[in-house]
Amino acid sequence: MADRYLSFTGTAPGRFLTRRLGLPQPAALRRWSPERPVLEGGLLHLTAGVSALPADAPDAGLPAVLARAGLGADTGRPAAVVLDATGVRDVAGLDGMHAALHPVVRSVAASGRVVVLGSPPDPADHHQAAAQQALEGFTRSLGKEIGRGRTVNLVRLTDAPSAESTLRFLLSPKSAYVSGQVVEVGAGRITAPEDWARPLAGRTALVTGAARGIGEAVAETLARDGARVVVLDVPGAEPDARRVAERLGGTALALDITAADAGERIARALPDGLDVLVHNAGITRDRRLVNMPAERWSSVLDVNLASVLRTTDALLAAGAVRPGGRIVATASIAGLAGNAGQTNYGASKAGVVGLVRSLAPRALGEHGVTVNAVAPGFVETRMTAAIPLLIREAGRRMNSLAQGGLPVDVAETTAWLAHPASGAVNGQVVRVCGQSLLGA
Ligand code: NAD
Repeated sequence: MADRYLSFTGTAPGRFLTRRLGLPQPAALRRWSPERPVLEGGLLHLTAGVSALPADAPDAGLPAVLARAGLGADTGRPAAVVLDATGVRDVAGLDGMHAALHPVVRSVAASGRVVVLGSPPDPADHHQAAAQQALEGFTRSLGKEIGRGRTVNLVRLTDAPSAESTLRFLLSPKSAYVSGQVVEVGAGRITAPEDWARPLAGRTALVTGAARGIGEAVAETLARDGARVVVLDVPGAEPDARRVAERLGGTALALDITAADAGERIARALPDGLDVLVHNAGITRDRRLVNMPAERWSSVLDVNLASVLRTTDALLAAGAVRPGGRIVATASIAGLAGNAGQTNYGASKAGVVGLVRSLAPRALGEHGVTVNAVAPGFVETRMTAAIPLLIREAGRRMNSLAQGGLPVDVAETTAWLAHPASGAVNGQVVRVCGQSLLGA
């Protein structure tokens, strides 16, 4: 469903009229393409105070990692600004944030990036914890005011190499619809790919619900990154699943994910195991609770949550997700903020968040597998096209970027989490919502 308002505001009369009327002015977002894989413009690297990041090996320090992100030198109109605030330990240190960003923020190019780097808040030092938590409020507030398709995100890290895949993603056009997010990068196994352009070469990725919509885009993006994709969808969608699989050089698997033995059937279909498991299949059956029959409740909980738990358990128990593997589940902002008419859906998607946070450390420890979630906001798919016009328009505009996301935005975020170098990103729930005004 085309966003006609976005097209209109891209014209001169549209810009004039919407400015006069004080209406939202979404910028056309700059997304990744093979011809233009990197943001045009320079990268400005600033530091508030003294960095807390280790600066030992010359090729593993922050400057080297940032240089590998591929942006040019700063030309006075940066495409990206990275502010290293890892060493801020008290309120006085926060002044350095203002001093660094106040003079340059206006000059950041349209669809540019501001990435703030912080340290994990220290439970033993409440002054450091206060200062580092302040970065979160700063990031989210700047994201809401910066405009022109520019994004602002916070990465908490303890060394630069563990965060390389994350920094590359956030500093690229691939993260066009990710803003106002806080990502924690811990200590994990980092496997730098031989080829950063095809990081999933030689790996197998299974995507549920991939016959259309977001799942199709995820399969396509993982295939672009080199993965052999398995396109799973219900038997009724088999022709579409086959079409997608053929286009991507993968295979289709017709299976209702709610089948009690779905995990075992996937394991049988992939005797060599898999490296990336994307739980994308999902349904809505909206009604306010007072009008909701039990069947609508249980079908949503079954597809969106119970089957994710069942298949994950079965595949991990069978050792079918290989060490270094990645599980990416699909939550939703409705699971974080709640939504009228979606008690069933909100419960199921909040359940996904609970699953990810609990399982992530154990799955990494016992299987060498990370577990993360993407939480889409308003994304232009058949699911959102079915929403009544006025609510759909409100959903599109009520975010810092004043527009809906595209399936590819969720797909790119999934590809970053699935990346072999993202082994230190675990237990995260990353919203792909243009910084929706709903929820945190
Ligand atoms: P969609 O309805 O376009 O596609 C969902 C796919 O899942 C379909 O191909 C469908 O056949 C498949 N599916 C449904 N039940 C299945 C089952 N039992 N077994 C196997 N496959 C099944 O939806 P979408 O908009 O692409 O959403 C994809 C995911 O993203 C869902 O989990 C959804 O809840 C989530 N999400 C979407 C949005 C959005 O704005 N579109 C927002 C937040 C979250």
